[in-house]
Amino acid sequence: MIPVCEPLLIGNELDYVVKAMSSNWISSSGEYVTRFEEDFAKYIGTRYALTAVNGTAALHLACLALGLGSGDEVIIPDFTMISSAFAICYTGSKPVFVDAELESWNIDSSRIEEKITSRTKAIMPVHIYGQPCNMKAISELASKYNLRVLEDAAEVHGAMFEAKKCGSMGDISCFSFFANKVITSGEGGMIATNDKNLYDSCRYFKNLAFPLDGPRDYIHQDIGFNYRMTNLAAAIGLAQLEKIELYIAKRRKNAALYREFLKDIPGLKLQPESPGTFNVYWMNGIVVGDEFGPSRNRLRDELKTRGIDSRNFFFPMHRQPALAKYGCETKDLYPVPDYLSERGLYLPSGSGLTESQIEFICQQIRDIRK
Ligand SMILES: *Cc1c(COP(=O)(O)O)cnc(C)c1O
Repeated sequence: MIPVCEPLLIGNELDYVVKAMSSNWISSSGEYVTRFEEDFAKYIGTRYALTAVNGTAALHLACLALGLGSGDEVIIPDFTMISSAFAICYTGSKPVFVDAELESWNIDSSRIEEKITSRTKAIMPVHIYGQPCNMKAISELASKYNLRVLEDAAEVHGAMFEAKKCGSMGDISCFSFFANKVITSGEGGMIATNDKNLYDSCRYFKNLAFPLDGPRDYIHQDIGFNYRMTNLAAAIGLAQLEKIELYIAKRRKNAALYREFLKDIPGLKLQPESPGTFNVYWMNGIVVGDEFGPSRNRLRDELKTRGIDSRNFFFPMHRQPALAKYGCETKDLYPVPDYLSERGLYLPSGSGLTESQIEFICQQIRDIRK
């Protein structure tokens, strides 16, 4: 079976993990945690970066640092992965959904303004599948309405909007290092920001709200969380970061090959690279139109019998039972996420895929259409 996405561990991962083990620094202090944070901040171009145990926890910390709480609203894309919404719910505030663009699959920035109310505190753009959102439009809205911007950059390590890295444009941003992401630490997350106060606030909540520089007297002023990354995970993450340019090049090569091999098949749409952006193609999605013939589900099942794994696109937020139960507004119309989630399929996209595997996958798609 060709998997949708497998990690590729071809650098110093094993060496660093062994060194961490031999040095006895296996918990959340240690050289690799510090180095991973410093080098990641340098790479993204922010003053600070802070590790977290996973991307969802990183988003939660960022929401806490922004002071979100009950009664607040945060604007997010209706077409995203559930973590974006859950992190907001953890603070008692409410995610408010916005339709997607049919071309880019990202949040439709022209539809954000109509969702802004007196309770809106922040916008959370999510760069979907590797493609940066329109950060210019989002930043302008944020300044106009005095809103904070929290970038969910879990899928876009190294992607750029007008030569600026995703994760460096908002007030604060979050990354994931789950095994299928552009780079991985097994499980892991990172927060990036230029704001010392937000950074300190994340550090505080991440470590059970122990006073940052005060005495260890076990007196706590706030409810905190244990969201610390281990030195072992950071050892893997740092080794991956050292080779990030290679992984991005592989991802972009995959996308170019899919474009080449699928180009004359009617009814298939791929995610374009919007002008002025650098897409890292975390996932190579296709949207299966009527012209293709077989439905998305048929295609997915047929691919499976031919040894090719694939995944349906995200399921829209306004259709999530958990979020309806929580009290989110789910009655508006979100035609694009509905369309994408019914028609979208992501194809194998890992950094370790070979050209002949991609050619094989595309041949099978062509064959299934007949
Ligand atoms: C992967 C992902 C996350 C969460 O990351 P985890 O490390 O799995 O918790 C958050 N947002 C988006 C958009 C993601 O793709």
